[in-house]
Amino acid sequence: MSTSTEIPALNLEKNLVEWERATSLIPGGALGIRRPYNFVEGEFPIFIDHGQGGQIVDVDGNTFTDFLCAYGPIILGYREQEVDEAVISRIREKGFCFSLTQVLQNELAEVLRDIIPCAQMSLFVKTGSDATSVAVRLARAFTQRTGIIRCGYHGWHDWCVEVKGGIPAKLYEDVREFPYNDLDALESLLKQHGEDTAAIILTPYGHPLAAPMEDPAPGFLEGAKKLAHCYGALLIFDEIRTGFRLALGGAQERFGVTPDVAVFGKAMANGYAIAAVTGRKDIMMMGEKEVFVSSTYFPNSLGYVAALKTIEILQRDQVIPSIEKKGQYFMTGVQQAIEKSGISAQLSGLPQMNFITFPKDQTGLYKKQRKAFFTHLIRQGVFLQPYHHGYICHRHTLQELEKALRVIEQAFMTIREFE
Ligand code: PMP
Repeated sequence: MSTSTEIPALNLEKNLVEWERATSLIPGGALGIRRPYNFVEGEFPIFIDHGQGGQIVDVDGNTFTDFLCAYGPIILGYREQEVDEAVISRIREKGFCFSLTQVLQNELAEVLRDIIPCAQMSLFVKTGSDATSVAVRLARAFTQRTGIIRCGYHGWHDWCVEVKGGIPAKLYEDVREFPYNDLDALESLLKQHGEDTAAIILTPYGHPLAAPMEDPAPGFLEGAKKLAHCYGALLIFDEIRTGFRLALGGAQERFGVTPDVAVFGKAMANGYAIAAVTGRKDIMMMGEKEVFVSSTYFPNSLGYVAALKTIEILQRDQVIPSIEKKGQYFMTGVQQAIEKSGISAQLSGLPQMNFITFPKDQTGLYKKQRKAFFTHLIRQGVFLQPYHHGYICHRHTLQELEKALRVIEQAFMTIREFE
């Protein structure tokens, strides 16, 4: 059995030269989650040269099957020809950045209305953080209240970012957090602050950082909706990760609970920048006068073109059921590998997005196991993030999944001997 120490480390020469250069040019060398300490430092590549289908190649020419999928947007695959061609045609034949809007916004809003349960009206922005911030602003305007109760990661904007440097406390002092699946904690926050709560915003599926993913407990989403309405607050689903993945209509379709407002991004356009805020007409209409939403680039139509084409492919090629099948195969294989090795690793999540974690122990063995496990994977061409769940995309092939499962099994066997 080969161990991670027997498998040679990757040649990362160019990666490291570029990293050195980056640290003198870019604060921290790269932005947040793309920094080396979020992976295994010295083992993972830092700069990507190109991608194709389910694979990526770094600047040293190392090839990996990518199960991080750009942190979620890649639902079809890298360089998905039909999507890229649609975008290139728009650039060549029409143009995409004007003083006025292109009618693509109407087409996309109609598509969302047809597939997402809550989507009576929509507006389009560029990033997930834009979208969650707009949703919160609409809710505050609609209810004439300021409090927000949140659960999950909602982006880097002032009201919700975890690192508070540079943000006056008054910008987040009305924002309170509760743990996923904990209706008692939510209710107790509402008992204290319910009269001034504008909205409860939550990720409809539990996907915390560096911890197992969580299915909604029976009644959790329904309960959150009931509690919100009981206190005159709105329910917002942050579907940035779940949208266009758990079902075409998002987690709200899959779990049968329709929120008042929801936000979508990531998988919606296979990597092009666009995000949507969508919901009940009376709430969305706050965007007409009371709430100002505008940016030079919000109407830039390349994201709209990519979203329309991506959604067309998702529907036409039954992509979500196909990913679900592949993901099921992957999860079954990982679970068998865990059982075979006897390691106390945990597999959580859904076929579309899942996570291998090592439960914390007093001695810190889990850290050693985690580091060795992900080192083994990356050296063998399997790109997975130690602290963030992975994704399955449409272009992952059966061979890629089989190979990844072999590598994962080997990695578990290797770390079995650790004490
Ligand atoms: N909400 C959730 C659930 C997310 O996962 C993210 C991004 N990881 C965001 C909001 C913010 O999206 P963006 O990074 O596009 O601003």
